[in-house]
Amino acid sequence: MHYFYICIRIKKSDVLKELDKEIIKLFGELIDNPNQKVVILPHINPDGDAVGSALGLSRVLKNSGLQVEVISANDYPSFYNWIEGHEQVTLFSKNPKKVQQLLDESSLLICLDFNHLSRTGELKPLVENYGKSCVLIDHHPYPEDFADVLISHPECSSTAELVYHVLKASGLEQYLDREAASALFCGIMTDTGSFDYNVSDPQTFQTVGELLKFGIDQDYIHAQVFDNYSADRMRLLGYCLNECMEVFPEYHAAVMYLSKETQKKFNFVPGDSEGFVNYPLSIKGIHFSTLFSEKDGMVKASFRSKGEFAVNEFASENFNGGGHRNAAGGEVFASLEETLDKYRRLLPVYQEKLEKTKSK
Ligand code: 5GP
Ligand code: MN
Repeated sequence: MHYFYICIRIKKSDVLKELDKEIIKLFGELIDNPNQKVVILPHINPDGDAVGSALGLSRVLKNSGLQVEVISANDYPSFYNWIEGHEQVTLFSKNPKKVQQLLDESSLLICLDFNHLSRTGELKPLVENYGKSCVLIDHHPYPEDFADVLISHPECSSTAELVYHVLKASGLEQYLDREAASALFCGIMTDTGSFDYNVSDPQTFQTVGELLKFGIDQDYIHAQVFDNYSADRMRLLGYCLNECMEVFPEYHAAVMYLSKETQKKFNFVPGDSEGFVNYPLSIKGIHFSTLFSEKDGMVKASFRSKGEFAVNEFASENFNGGGHRNAAGGEVFASLEETLDKYRRLLPVYQEKLEKTKSK
C-alpha cells in the first residue's frame, strides 16, 4: 500500500462510479487490517468542514473497528464542540509530544480539507517526514503533490460531502451512524453557507437527503453553529460594519478590518469573526469582500467574491494564500495599516478583472 499514487479528478456526476475501483481497494485494505492505526488531520484553524469531515470520517472508521485518532494543529471554535468525538481530538498547540507519538504509532495518515502542506501550520515538518502511507481527501483546486493517494474533487461542495461519497464507494457506508452523519452534515452546511452557495449540483442535496435519513437533528445542528454567539460578538459585528468597513463602489469591493484593539474591546474569542466577510457582499454592486484580522505579528486575510472574480488568485498573488474561486484566505507578516495600504493599492491593478465580473 505504500507509495502508489492515484489522482482522481473527474466530473462530479461520475464521482461514485469512478471512485469505486481505486477507493474500494484502498479502504478495503484498511478494513482487512484491524491493527491499522489511522491518524486524521484537518487544516490549521479548522472550520466546520474540516472538523465535521475529520470527526465524521473518524467515527465511521472507528465503528468499523479501526483505531483512529484525530489531530489538529490548533483549536477550533467552541460552537463545534457538540460534534461526537471532539473531546478526543489532540491539539499540537497544546500537546505536541502526544501528536508526535500518535503519528509515530500510526501506519496511515488521512489529510482532510486542504491542498497545501503550508495549511498544516507547525505540523508541516511532521507531515512531510511522515514516511508512511498518506491519503489526501480534499475539494480545493490545484492540490500540492504530497500524498500517496490523492482524492481531489474541487467540484464538491465540501470535503464532508466528498468523504460521504468515498465512504459509500468503499463499502464503509454500513458504519455510518447518526453521529457521523451529523458531523458530515455540519461540514456541508458550513461550507455552503447553510446551502446558499456551492449547491448548484443536485448531488449535494441528494447527499444531504441521505444524511437526514440517519435521523439527525438539523435544527439543533444549525442552532449550535449559528445561534451560539455571545452578545459581545453581535456588538463587535455592529461596530465593524459601522466603524471598520471601507466601500469602494468603483472597484465593486469592500474591506473590513479587525484590529487587536477592537478585538480586546469586545472580548474576542476564536470564531467570533466567522461570517463577517460575507456581509459586504450584500451591498448592491459589491462582489469582492475582504476581512483583515490582526494577529500576533501578522494579519490573517479572508476573501469572498460573487461571480467570476477569482479570490484564490488574488490571495496567492498577493497574500501568500489560496482557496476556492469565491472563498479564499491568506496571511501577511505586516502591520494592519500596511496591509490595508497594500490592499488599497491593489484595487486599481485588478480594476479590469473586477469590472468584468458580473454579480449574480
Ligand atoms: P476563511 O476565509 O474562511 O479562513 O477561508 C476561506 C477558504 O480559503 C478556505 O477554503 C480555506 O481553506 C482557504 N484559506 C484560508 N486561509 C488560507 C491560507 O492562509 N492559505 C491558503 N492556501 N488557503 C487559505
Ligand atoms: Mn472545505
